[in-house]
Amino acid sequence: MLDAAFFHRWMTTVTALVDREAERLTELDSAIGDADHGSNLRRGFTAVSAALEKEPQQTPGAVLALAGRQLISTVGGASGPLYGTLLRRTGKALGDAPAVTADELAQALGTGVAAVAQLGGARAGDKTMLDALLPAVDALGTSFAAGREAALAGAEATVPLQARKGRASYLGERSIGHQDPGAASAALLMAALADTEDT
Ligand code: ADP
Ligand code: MG
Ligand code: MG
Repeated sequence: MLDAAFFHRWMTTVTALVDREAERLTELDSAIGDADHGSNLRRGFTAVSAALEKEPQQTPGAVLALAGRQLISTVGGASGPLYGTLLRRTGKALGDAPAVTADELAQALGTGVAAVAQLGGARAGDKTMLDALLPAVDALGTSFAAGREAALAGAEATVPLQARKGRASYLGERSIGHQDPGAASAALLMAALADTEDT
């Protein structure tokens, strides 16, 4: 079973991965956006980890709800409300159980990803974070490692796509040939989940 401590470790691991990869994310965003995705997420997840340290939460749902609120209030860009919604809605779907199964988390993430699609109005193939998140959620039923691989493959598959949502869509055909920064960061979120040990 995955308890609040597991979810706290997941968020700490995301923070470390985002910190390590922030320059790459910003480089991707400089090609088809406004060169702030790495700094946006670094600021957001640093705030998430600080808040969880300061106010430890007792349930998986509460950990994700606090993380989501922090992202919404500290990340200015499009990705803040979208990732914030992902974590808040996933947390809400987990309810107030003290621990959840991997299957329950996979289901809840499905609900969270659907909320992201609704908020942003994007679909698979629009060259957004959803292109990593949607295949990851499908693969999570198998294992967290499968979710990580599916997210990575989904992020890489955004390279030849033309962006239809977000800032990159303003570039039209010129968005083709670059990986979507949000899909790359979504792959980090899933990689962190696979890296988090269930002790
Ligand atoms: P901003 O574009 O406001 O600077 P970021 O650079 O932090 O925000 O995030 C950009 C990422 O957000 C994109 O690479 C894309 O993956 C994601 N994104 C933008 N708009 C949408 C949307 N409508 N639906 C889903 N994801 C989106
Ligand atoms: Mg940006
Ligand atoms: Mg911006």
